[in-house]
Amino acid sequence: MKLLHLPAQQQIYDAAPRWLQRVLVNAEAARREWFRRHGDYRRLVAAHDPRWYYRSRDEQEAWQLAQLNRLLAEARRRVPYYRRTLPDRPLSHLSELSALPLLSKEQIRRDPFALVADDLNRRALWPRKTSGSTGTPLTFYLDREATRNHQAPADAMLVALGCRFGEPRARFSGAYVTPYSRTQPPFWIWIDLYRQLQCSAYHLAPQFYPHYLRALRESGVVYGTGYPTSWHLLATYILESGDQPPRLRAIISDSEGISREQQAVVEQAFGCPMVQTYGAGEIGQMAWQCEHGRYHALSRAAIAEVVDANAQPVAPGETGQIVVTSFASTGTPFIRYQTGDLAMVAADDCPCGRHNPSWLAIEGRIDDRIKTPDGRWIGRLSHVTKPGVGIKESQIAQVARDRIVIRVVPASDFVPASMQAVIEAARRYLGPAMQIEWETVERLPRTSAGKLRHVVREVDLE
Ligand SMILES: [Zn+2]
Repeated sequence: MKLLHLPAQQQIYDAAPRWLQRVLVNAEAARREWFRRHGDYRRLVAAHDPRWYYRSRDEQEAWQLAQLNRLLAEARRRVPYYRRTLPDRPLSHLSELSALPLLSKEQIRRDPFALVADDLNRRALWPRKTSGSTGTPLTFYLDREATRNHQAPADAMLVALGCRFGEPRARFSGAYVTPYSRTQPPFWIWIDLYRQLQCSAYHLAPQFYPHYLRALRESGVVYGTGYPTSWHLLATYILESGDQPPRLRAIISDSEGISREQQAVVEQAFGCPMVQTYGAGEIGQMAWQCEHGRYHALSRAAIAEVVDANAQPVAPGETGQIVVTSFASTGTPFIRYQTGDLAMVAADDCPCGRHNPSWLAIEGRIDDRIKTPDGRWIGRLSHVTKPGVGIKESQIAQVARDRIVIRVVPASDFVPASMQAVIEAARRYLGPAMQIEWETVERLPRTSAGKLRHVVREVDLE
């Protein structure tokens, strides 16, 4: 997610002196915090005490059923889409959830306000835009209740790792820190309000690794967050060079996944545990890895089903789509929301002793990465297609060392001229040495698991 999202804002930011950039970034942070951590936020965090997950499965499910019935009744009463689609009686068992209709991204795209309670002031909502895992833009709206409740479980989980929100942290992400054309550090900015060193994931070229590490050491950060691929790049460099890592208590990654082997490299290099998390802007953080490497669904925040093509739960040991019913808000509810991500369900209880459902792996999140001619690895690029109008699906393919093709499946309202902004967005991250083209195609290939990969590398550059 961008700190600054409009082109005009970006130009003002780029031209501003460093002190003013810091003011601008903090102003945006303040806007977000008004949504996120406000009012009785401490009470919300306390409600997500991580020790709850050690309670018995029966106790957790009984609590979930009561919570679910409250959500269904309120959603039906307040929200037009659910008024049409939900039954008017409570469920008597959690398993009855699988009889309720699924919510698709397509449904939200058709009429986002049908998913918003009638009684909410639309101007007080937070409009969010994601490109989703398929690279198809999606706009949806969240109320403050939702944003606060998306944040609280994550802040609560930090405590189990000896960290606390408010302590200095470092974050690697695609947030806009500085123009691509910048070839000298700093590629980071300090956000006072979060006490966060926001680091650009896009400027991580080998010659700058030592600069990033020095910035991390000197900022006094005690934990790390963000793209795991960025942390992995630095970890590889630390192990090769012997350069000194910052003293971190934990790294909690999000937005994408890395393999267990890569995760072990990060833990070795930084000398601290790394936890991978799973979530999405629509539903907040949904699952955290435990010390055994499994992803535990945060059952206090949502019900996460893993379903087959018929929307029925898959058998243990099998892979299916993650479908989420979030308890975050009754004003902007997501009930049986199809995330498009795949998880493999564990067949047995996790040895860690937690009784919330666990997944052995999240599949379809490990995108291919693109390597730029100047040696940078670029992971998540899905947002570059956001400015495109009428894109049904898209895929960014690296077809040669210095050539990218953006493949687009056009919808009926496709506007070819809007692709210019897409190319420019891609250019900002991939640099001037990369040729960037686009083409329309009738369909995009799927993996054997049925997943569309948004970024693929079709040339071997390892
Ligand atoms: Zn576990």
